[in-house]
Amino acid sequence: MGAPASLLLRARVVLPIRRPPIENGAVVITGRQIAAVGSWASLRRRHSGRTLDLGAVILLPGLVNAHCHLDYTRMAGMFPPPRSFCDWIKSITTEKSLWSDADFAASWRDGAAMLLRSGTTTVADIEAVPQLLPQVWKHTPLRVISLLEMTGIRSRRDPDHILAEAAVKIESLPRGRCRAGLSPHAPYSTLPRLMNRCGVLARRRRWLVATHVAESATEFEMFRHARGEMFDWLRRNERDLSDCGGVSPVQHLAGTGLLGPNVIATHVNYLSPGDASLLARKRTNVVHCPRSHDYFRHREFPYRTLARAGVNLCLGTDSLATVRKHPQRDLELSLFHEMRAFAMKHSRVRPNHILAMTTVNAARALGLRGQIGELVKNACADLIALPFSGPLREACGAVLEHRGNVAASMIEGQWAIQPK
Ligand SMILES: [Zn+2]
Repeated sequence: MGAPASLLLRARVVLPIRRPPIENGAVVITGRQIAAVGSWASLRRRHSGRTLDLGAVILLPGLVNAHCHLDYTRMAGMFPPPRSFCDWIKSITTEKSLWSDADFAASWRDGAAMLLRSGTTTVADIEAVPQLLPQVWKHTPLRVISLLEMTGIRSRRDPDHILAEAAVKIESLPRGRCRAGLSPHAPYSTLPRLMNRCGVLARRRRWLVATHVAESATEFEMFRHARGEMFDWLRRNERDLSDCGGVSPVQHLAGTGLLGPNVIATHVNYLSPGDASLLARKRTNVVHCPRSHDYFRHREFPYRTLARAGVNLCLGTDSLATVRKHPQRDLELSLFHEMRAFAMKHSRVRPNHILAMTTVNAARALGLRGQIGELVKNACADLIALPFSGPLREACGAVLEHRGNVAASMIEGQWAIQPK
């Protein structure tokens, strides 16, 4: 077999992310990887393969969505913002019981198509219906890290059995661009032993783990004070509540032994003093989902506290079941929407820091640092192009302002959206 074909892409601006933007830049792709990033003038001289001028665009790494539920996409706009967080859980649980596997699969595929056209090339997706895998993977060029959701309250099943079932499923899946990991749903909806067992197994197998934590005020109240709406509701559902009282949700999770660099803690809205430094010490990653946060009217996301503590921060779309309906527009899963929603609430955070949350930071959270989320030699050839004709200094801000579909998307060296 000969050497893989190589392709030189030229763009008005190349945005490598870890390095400054390059005017009249270029990227060399060889097979599935990036072989070089630099100026058009220098790379053109050294390159002998095919050349493609993408014209007036910004070329940047494909975006990395650190938290999504593709299978809920067709629940877009179904639930108006609820009176309480528990009411929302009850609504979606009822709705889910009415859906067939085929409904979930169609919903998943719709979501994957939305992410692709809005610039995501890798997504960490929570799978409530793991039997859809691996068939749905075949319907998308996206790199999907599917995290198998586990809950353990209503079913009253032994945590070891719940985990063993998920592990068998993961081991049965083909290894390739897509892969799988674990998602014990949340500290309130699982038991501490499931969290502990997940931590032990995931570290041994090098699996990614994601869990929802400290999302709502009522969850905080349940663990901190052993009272409130969630506490009462779960007591009626006969959850063992002996783990409640005296600890914050983050401290509770740390106590189970789950936290570590392979863990993504989603939401993390309600903190006790010391929680941010605890997450930083455990090198646990945090994902914020700005539109979902707004939908539930949570208290302000503690960005500054977490950033100052040194926590790795990312953005995710969450699902369209938790985005406010727009009177004129269809709801779309899009990290551009999320970056703008974040910028609206956190106006002092610079655009390059916001873009890091959907590229390099998210890559690190997914255990793929240096492989995705940046344009650098030997990284996967995952790139997107956005129309741009402004000055170089405005390139980063222009990414956040991008609206509509991307002009092109490449995943592992293959065009997933062909440039025009
Ligand atoms: Zn979620």
